[in-house]
Amino acid sequence: MRLPIVAGNWKLNGSRESVRLLASEITDKSFSDVEVIVCPVALHVPDVASVVAGSSVKLGAQNAAFEEGGAFTGEVASSMLAEYGCTHVIVGHSERRSLFGDTNESCAQRHQAVLNAGLTPVFCVGESLEEREAGETLSVVTGQLDAVFEHVGNAAFDQAVIAYEPVWAIGTGKTASPDQAQEVHAAIRNMLHARSPEASDSVRILYGGSVNAGNADELFAKPDIDGGLIGGASLKSADFFAICDAAAKQYSQA
Ligand code: PEP
Repeated sequence: MRLPIVAGNWKLNGSRESVRLLASEITDKSFSDVEVIVCPVALHVPDVASVVAGSSVKLGAQNAAFEEGGAFTGEVASSMLAEYGCTHVIVGHSERRSLFGDTNESCAQRHQAVLNAGLTPVFCVGESLEEREAGETLSVVTGQLDAVFEHVGNAAFDQAVIAYEPVWAIGTGKTASPDQAQEVHAAIRNMLHARSPEASDSVRILYGGSVNAGNADELFAKPDIDGGLIGGASLKSADFFAICDAAAKQYSQA
């Protein structure tokens, strides 16, 4: 069984004081049977790094540049994030794709840059409501993954995490049903198998989209759902802990 991951995407929230407090509440709890990652805004990374240092909680960033340096105003390079203790970087979140112009190709370049710096991409895929209703979910997700395979090669996800996040479920309170999510997760694992049979069994595929303390259990009970990427519910430690516990329970009972 794969060790589950619960990653908190704090998005553009918090102050220096509030993120330090949230991070210290999280590091005060001892986690077993689940890998926990917190992803503050880049500017808060040094503060959060100093709080999580020495704990089992890992640090992630929400985005990284597709180049290592140069004339890229406003970007942050993966190697810089690594210097401050980040181990993971979210790549291709739907908010980056829909609001900031990220394309399948630029996400693939970012993924490569993250890997080049020795960090682990948490690569996000997912369809819009229109695409789901048009029956295009699997072709959209395949296209998003294929762009990375084309750029990086068949080993693109061997050292990565994938997050399936249906766009219509992010921040909306509408969650994919466990069966809907499992169907896509299993299809993703099949796609991986065709490219890298060894990795397809070990890659963690997280579900994201309005996961909360009430629905985490039944989502994480599905065989191809290896934890969650959590937005809103990661901002309150009690909710976040309940989600971490739900993931850990699946692992310890397996
Ligand atoms: C996200 O932003 O990755 C996310 C899943 O958000 P939420 O949990 O709020 O839907």
